[in-house]
Amino acid sequence: MILWSPTAIDLEKLYQSWAKSVAYPARLRYSETMRVLGIETSCDETAAAIVDDDRRVLSNVVLSQLDDHRPFGGVVPEIAARAHLTHLDGIIEKALTDADIGFEGLDAVAATTGPGLIGGVMVGAITAKAIALARGLPFVAVNHLEGHALTARLTNAVEFPYLLLLVSGGHCQLLAVEGVGRYTRYGTTVDDAVGEAFDKTAKLLGLGFPGGPAVERAATQASNPKAFDLPRPMAGKPHCDFSFSGLKSAVRRHCDALQPRSDGTYAPEDVQNLAAGFQQAAADVLADRTRRAADRFIKDYGSGVLVVAGGVAANQTLRVALENAANDAGMGFAAPPPGLCTDNGAMIAWAGLERFRLGRQDPLDFKARPRWPLDDPSLAVDDTIEGASI
Ligand code: ADP
Ligand code: MG
Repeated sequence: MILWSPTAIDLEKLYQSWAKSVAYPARLRYSETMRVLGIETSCDETAAAIVDDDRRVLSNVVLSQLDDHRPFGGVVPEIAARAHLTHLDGIIEKALTDADIGFEGLDAVAATTGPGLIGGVMVGAITAKAIALARGLPFVAVNHLEGHALTARLTNAVEFPYLLLLVSGGHCQLLAVEGVGRYTRYGTTVDDAVGEAFDKTAKLLGLGFPGGPAVERAATQASNPKAFDLPRPMAGKPHCDFSFSGLKSAVRRHCDALQPRSDGTYAPEDVQNLAAGFQQAAADVLADRTRRAADRFIKDYGSGVLVVAGGVAANQTLRVALENAANDAGMGFAAPPPGLCTDNGAMIAWAGLERFRLGRQDPLDFKARPRWPLDDPSLAVDDTIEGASI
């Protein structure tokens, strides 16, 4: 097997030294309508999109690599990086064609530069830098989590500050969002992310990969969602942290106690009831922790909106539980449409646009980062620039 990452790292190093030695001709052009291309390659979606500052998604192309990873029951980083390399150029071309513009119609190019699987992140970041250099466009480095965090401003025009529940395959956090790049973390998971728990539950139940949508589908067919007793870890605690490993283990214990059929699978009724029980337990703890965070948010900021974002936010049961939590706390509620909750290029284009219109662009030697927390102070953007905010 040919290993891809070492080559990519060498390539990145070579590129870094070269990028430092060339003049960067990017212009800072504010045309009448600002359009930004966004590139997302941090996990197993190869995605590109173009958005404008009137909150229009001019194109949004997402190529899922699910079929490439399904035989392995999870995302294989080397396969993901190579697939991004194969498909990204065509995906960008389609994003431009769908939006009916050329590179000259863009004001900036943004790409996820972390956190994520580093091989894939490098493919997207290097491609965006190459476009920026070749076309004289500003390059904007985007934190993938900030892409999720700001999507509700694209889809629902939510204003700062707001309370954010970010729930995805790798993250489960509650944050106060004060502005672009300004986040205060209220709570996080002490072990697994909730998306990981959905994926693991699906695997235990034989529902396949990816787990979240499969668990949700099975749960809708449940005859008795209360058939299995499942815990609500952290419920009622005074802080805003989460824990999902105990819930995952409880699902495993119930599976171990079930009698598999001759083909090794469980009876559909058990699978559906356990899926529904797990989903309800996850929704209950997320709503409980969010209620706690809402109390703190209201103390800190008076009132505001609860925003839910990230792949798990596509789940309908969860959306209902969180909307109820927001209503109880006297807060508004906003959730992007499911297609913009899971990874996509529009969220990266929008976060890039938000940063760029505040005067922010990044150097071509900006490094790809496997880890990059959202409350990193270096993300902060000065939004006091006159005329910067829209
Ligand atoms: P990442 O963590 O890579 O940024 P995403 O934001 O795309 O990933 O979220 C992917 C996660 O969301 C996976 O764990 C997946 O199982 C979960 N997910 C997607 N759709 C649903 C759903 N309808 N219900 C629950 N979980 C979901
Ligand atoms: Mg994501």
